[in-house]
Amino acid sequence: ETIVNRIAAGEVVERPASVVKELVENAIDAGATRIEIATAGGGLSLLRVSDNGSGIEPGQLPLAVARHCTSKLSDNIFDIRSLGFRGEALPSIGSVARLSIRSATEAGEGAEITVEGGELSAVRPAACNRGTVVEVRDLFFSTPARLKFMKSERAESAAITDQLRRIALAFPGVRFALTGPDRSSLELPLCEGTPEKAATERMRALLGHGFAENSLPINAMRDGVRLTGRISVPSYSRGNAQHQFVMVNGRPVRDKRLAGAIRGAYADALPRDRHAAVVLFLDLDPALVDVNVHPQKADVRFRDSGMISGLIVGAIRQALSEAGI
Ligand code: ADP
Ligand code: MG
Repeated sequence: ETIVNRIAAGEVVERPASVVKELVENAIDAGATRIEIATAGGGLSLLRVSDNGSGIEPGQLPLAVARHCTSKLSDNIFDIRSLGFRGEALPSIGSVARLSIRSATEAGEGAEITVEGGELSAVRPAACNRGTVVEVRDLFFSTPARLKFMKSERAESAAITDQLRRIALAFPGVRFALTGPDRSSLELPLCEGTPEKAATERMRALLGHGFAENSLPINAMRDGVRLTGRISVPSYSRGNAQHQFVMVNGRPVRDKRLAGAIRGAYADALPRDRHAAVVLFLDLDPALVDVNVHPQKADVRFRDSGMISGLIVGAIRQALSEAGI
């Protein structure tokens, strides 16, 4: 069992940023509106995610860390509303780190369980606010070979911040606070109002006023696929692609093909070493897209990827040309 979990961990838990992704998604699935993340040592010595979500009943704690136990399976695999559904993250993390989960469905009456290198503790009562605190210490202590692949603390911290920015853009109704080394910290207040207003406010918080003023709106539709968002004018280009955000049906995705379409749309308008800042929301029939190809769920497979690329390229080119670029 421990071995199986460790193999799964190789897939799910690539680096500290992937742990952050899994834990923050769990908090969002639990309906949290406030998520706090604390890190030390690039997330390798400590990662703590606290949320004010629904919490876990004491009796359910051993199940939460058991393989393929999920409380989220829906009968239609194409219509998964929750971010998680495999029941792999917690057991995987517990097999390669020192994991502790403290949770309460009502303030005060909580419980705690720990998992170390795959070994479960008994469930103990623990005082706790409503919600869940998941603490991961000494990531990869049981898999030294994996630990060797980690980059510098600074690089792992940067990857955590980048990961959180992507999730945060997709969930403006959640307040996020990341505390870690100076440059990696992030404080994002909850955004209120209509979905559009909240999304715009979160966009501003993450990409800055410069982006709002130097970008063009996108609004296109083809064969039932809706594309909205904003794209920067070429003069507002960046030195890296970290300012490109794509959401598919509300989930952040990272996909080479989509990045290629964005790059292609700007073509000669951008020098080779410059990148546009882009926020795009693709919304389509869930049956026409699989956002769960890989356990890390960052990549995406469209039934008709040529059409999607065409839609993106067409919409960006049109926006640029209407602006006289
Ligand atoms: P999945 O998210 O795919 O279901 P996980 O291993 O990430 O699998 O989590 C296992 C289960 O633990 C979840 O289905 C959920 O019931 C519970 N759980 C995990 N994290 C939280 C949390 N922050 N709040 C409430 N429940 C949680
Ligand atoms: Mg999960």
